[in-house]
Amino acid sequence: MNGKMGSYIRSFFRCAAALVLAAAVAASPLQITALAGSGTQPATEAQTSAAQAAAPQKSAAVRPAVPTVSAVSRRSKVYLKWGAVSGANVYYVYRRNAGTRGYTKIKETTKLKYTDSGVNAGSSYVYKVRAVSTASGLQSKTSKALKILVCAINPNKKMIALTFDDGPGPYTEAIVKCLKKYGMHATFFVVGNRVGMYPNAVRSAFNAGCEIGNHSYDHAYLPNLSYADIKAEIKKTNKNVKAVIGQNPTITRPTYGAVNSSVRKAVGMPLICWSVDTLDWKTRSKSATIKSVMSNARDGAIILMHDIHQPTQQAALALIPKLVKEGYQLVTVSELARYHKVSLKKGYVYYSITK
Ligand SMILES: [Zn+2]
Repeated sequence: MNGKMGSYIRSFFRCAAALVLAAAVAASPLQITALAGSGTQPATEAQTSAAQAAAPQKSAAVRPAVPTVSAVSRRSKVYLKWGAVSGANVYYVYRRNAGTRGYTKIKETTKLKYTDSGVNAGSSYVYKVRAVSTASGLQSKTSKALKILVCAINPNKKMIALTFDDGPGPYTEAIVKCLKKYGMHATFFVVGNRVGMYPNAVRSAFNAGCEIGNHSYDHAYLPNLSYADIKAEIKKTNKNVKAVIGQNPTITRPTYGAVNSSVRKAVGMPLICWSVDTLDWKTRSKSATIKSVMSNARDGAIILMHDIHQPTQQAALALIPKLVKEGYQLVTVSELARYHKVSLKKGYVYYSITK
């Protein structure tokens, strides 16, 4: 884990610890005991609470802090992960179907992640996680409820990759929120020196199942740079992205779509251009951008937009439901390749990805 993310999480846990403390003052007894042998019991939260109320108090051990959980749906599964909680050695994962009451404990694990395959595509679920110390028998409160719509991609139906360049920026998060609402994904090709300015936008995009691609460090015209300088542009951006989402981008959008043999080699990733240039940066028009996308949309298309312009954000909020209504599945570039069974190769340039 990098410094920034680490300090973000540390400060979060300080807040979480303070909240737990405040709650404890309001509702003692603070100390609780885990359900014995609950590994085989389908314990509901209500049952756990009853056990907690009846449990004898302990004085020395400290109740674990509430874990910070994130979840994302990809390929009809839900991937949950959370930060390690000091003193806890087991985590309980709870799930309920959105629209119904009552959580079911679906997993006890010593890991900091869980992949839920027992979900139906197109349905929404709500998750909570609890940190448990088996040594002291103490449990944290459950984490904040996380609602996830299970992403349903049918490889036989048409799909399209919306791509947003030059961000992150102040308009990125609204686009992500809209994609999330419809269970859809897009790709954000970020400029490395902007990542630290809007880390939350990058994080929420990734956590919503979107892809983060590399778009150079400072939007340099790559063919004019030396081989070493092109490499540095890519490396510095990868580093900043990894600092926020924990992994490197695997695709690059060359600035200005400009590629030569040196760029192909130095970037060392698939180079993703576009089949539809909306010219949103030029028109700065919501309606012109919508018109460009809707009249050029087809299966396998890669659409170029820029999330640093407000009219583009407004266009995206209208486009996402419009495309969904027309039967398009909005996927990331890597998903488009995967569903269309195309393996993206380093140094190759792609304009669209059709079956
Ligand atoms: Zn650009």
